[in-house]
Amino acid sequence: MSLTSQVELLPEVEAFLNKSPFASFVGGQEFPSGSGELIATIDPGSGQTLAEIHDLNAAEIDRAVDIASDAFPAWAKLSQGERSKILLRLADAVEQHKPIIAQIEALDAGKIQAQAAGDVQNFVDTLRYFVGLADKVELRTKLDVPGHDAWTFKQPWGACAFIFPWNFPFLLIGWGISPALAAGNTVVIKPAEDTSLSALYLAQLATEVGVPDGVINVVTGRGAVAGAALSANAKIKRMSFTGSPEVGQLVGEACGRNLVPVKLELGGKGAAVVFDDVDVKATAEALVGAITFHSGQVCCDATRWLIQEDIYDEFVAHCIEQMKQVQIGHPLDPQSQMGPVVNPKQCQRVLGYQEKGQAAGAECLYGGGPATVDGFTGNYVNPALLAGDLENVAAREEIFGPVAYLAKFDSEEQAIAMANDTDYGLANSVWTKDNDRAARVAEAMVAGNSWINAHNVFAHGVPYGGVNKSGMGGGVLSVETLMDYYRSTSVVRPL
Ligand code: NAD
Repeated sequence: MSLTSQVELLPEVEAFLNKSPFASFVGGQEFPSGSGELIATIDPGSGQTLAEIHDLNAAEIDRAVDIASDAFPAWAKLSQGERSKILLRLADAVEQHKPIIAQIEALDAGKIQAQAAGDVQNFVDTLRYFVGLADKVELRTKLDVPGHDAWTFKQPWGACAFIFPWNFPFLLIGWGISPALAAGNTVVIKPAEDTSLSALYLAQLATEVGVPDGVINVVTGRGAVAGAALSANAKIKRMSFTGSPEVGQLVGEACGRNLVPVKLELGGKGAAVVFDDVDVKATAEALVGAITFHSGQVCCDATRWLIQEDIYDEFVAHCIEQMKQVQIGHPLDPQSQMGPVVNPKQCQRVLGYQEKGQAAGAECLYGGGPATVDGFTGNYVNPALLAGDLENVAAREEIFGPVAYLAKFDSEEQAIAMANDTDYGLANSVWTKDNDRAARVAEAMVAGNSWINAHNVFAHGVPYGGVNKSGMGGGVLSVETLMDYYRSTSVVRPL
């Protein structure tokens, strides 16, 4: 059975997919792998092969970095106004092509189509945000130092590298490359091997709207070869990696050897601390919404739900009621609320943690196991609620699926200690009507981000990053992120 007999594709998406196999895109043109090796990219919702992408080797990655480095001086030399005009043209073009990119992303990443459209809009908003900031940055700052004429001068670094995961491919590209490009750097993007299609579409579109050749480059291939070569390349001026802590350590080590500054945006095991003064039903609905959003494949998700004892039973009952209503289906079906997980390996990981967690004593309060969707053989899993001791493997390790782990607490102090009993430090939330308590708990939880009466909150201008096993290097989405993409020179003349 062909994919087009199962789902309705936009003609533009069908035409795009018919171009398979896809070479990488470097220096404004297709950049094929010399070996002819290909990687299949699969629709997780149907198991059908969407396309094949070229699998670059290390020498080819190094060549792409050289091309990005060669393109740097001319891009950096443009006035900010000229550069901004080109980037805003790209933002407009992405917005105009939103339905097409969203459908490509929905098929490639198994993402509900409306959510994929939100990701594409987020890319557009992020690019416009950083261009707006870069237009206002003072590059020269006079320093008031007695006896010296002194100032600092900021300029872009050169070719910057980006390695991305598969869960938010297009949105994360926007978060990563927008500040780098706006500041005048060129970029080499290595998308995840499962989800490279939207990046390739972007690179082609960038060339069409006049982004100079070599400014936005996309290299495809396997992490252990292409990703490793990119992170070990001594000519890149900055590295940004988003993905698992295990690979983040390898990337950090490789960059350390070359003294290349590195940003690591890694996994999480966030807590939601729910006090007994909340609207219990509304809070249960919000947290079930968060854990089932993109099938729980969200780094900053609340996966440990810490509930004050006296509302625990009522809270669990509302969660179960809410989970029962989640419509699991193919990402292109408008009725679907939760799609598949990205690949069979991820499916096994999610199901495996449910089994390991229960074997170690966790109680399954609801759901779990594989899910079936009529007419589709995809990687579908049921959402699940586990409960028990927080020492349990399912409470300690990142599952990256629609699985929440519940535990009871008594006092505020105990809740904070439970939330902080983790190796991670990405994002937590606190739920209460008491604003003083909310602020106290939000500041006491050890993580890069604390949200109040909400989870997964992102606003341009609010820094987002992790601490401990969740990341290092400054994070994304804020003025500071833009400044990371300028290097600073101090200039001094003794008087
Ligand atoms: P992953 O670490 O397996 O892969 C991420 C990227 O690294 C991919 O492009 C992969 O090809 C590449 N890679 C793999 N091995 C490599 C190597 N040896 N050297 C260099 N690159 C290599 O992660 P994933 O499974 O794609 O994504 C899930 C993880 O990403 C989760 O831990 C999730 O929490 C995290 N994540 C974090 C954020 C954040 O902002 N903090 C956002 C999204 C995802």
